[in-house]
Amino acid sequence: MLELPEVEVLRRDLEKEIVGKRIKDVIVETPSVVRPFHRNRPEFVKALAGRKVEAARRRGTVIFLDLDEDLTWIVDAGEEGSLHRETANEDAGEDTHLIVTFTIGGAIHLSEAGTEPTAHTGVVPTDEALEAAGVSPDALDPLDDNPTWMEFGRFLADADGPLKLVLTDPTRIAGLGPVYSDEILWEAGLRHDHATSKLSTQEIRRLYRAMQEVIVIAMKAAGSSLDDAEAEAAIDDEGEAAEHLRVYGREGLPCSRCRKPIVRTRIKKGVYTYRCDQCMI
Ligand SMILES: [Zn+2]
Repeated sequence: MLELPEVEVLRRDLEKEIVGKRIKDVIVETPSVVRPFHRNRPEFVKALAGRKVEAARRRGTVIFLDLDEDLTWIVDAGEEGSLHRETANEDAGEDTHLIVTFTIGGAIHLSEAGTEPTAHTGVVPTDEALEAAGVSPDALDPLDDNPTWMEFGRFLADADGPLKLVLTDPTRIAGLGPVYSDEILWEAGLRHDHATSKLSTQEIRRLYRAMQEVIVIAMKAAGSSLDDAEAEAAIDDEGEAAEHLRVYGREGLPCSRCRKPIVRTRIKKGVYTYRCDQCMI
């Protein structure tokens, strides 16, 4: 599951690698990756080929590559998609769904394991891009918006819900999911079911600091997404937690703060939280 830190690493890599380059060829291997935005493959290819990439933005877990002619290339890497840098002649791998080559050499491949990718991509007018990508215009992006702790406190008071559900609600916060919401709560030492409107000033500051720290640590752990496709996935294929995670995926393992076993609790249908019931209060 890709969340804000992994996608921000990808955005920074794309900013370095492809901003300023002109797109030469576009090959869509899997038609479903363009379907949310386009009727068919040729429509997408026509919209993207020949365009120049002018900027790489991110909102939540979606990347927006602004093109000339007021168009934006949306890349939603889905649950486990990734972009890799390849040479222009590299063939499509088994899990490659899209190949884009550039006029001055090099290519990027969009890939995701499985025959039904959750990754999606398309080209839309820039002023329609946020809405087309399904990103809530009102959601707070903890990195992109860079709120002060007081602004974050006002946001929490307005959100007024259980902490874990507010952190993972994409209409309220853009880019956090099951993994980093649990990590942030552990780092802050706060239970998942605190009402956001009832947090003390001290708790708000702890949560704010934890959110920033967890995102920075996760971005360091993600390394460079374009160079190393494996590094960006927080969770490996066996579902084991990556080394930088303190609670997520660590059920039964000792809490690294107090040694009590981590427990997994069902909050509601399909929503679970990994937590330490001794040091998250
Ligand atoms: Zn603990």
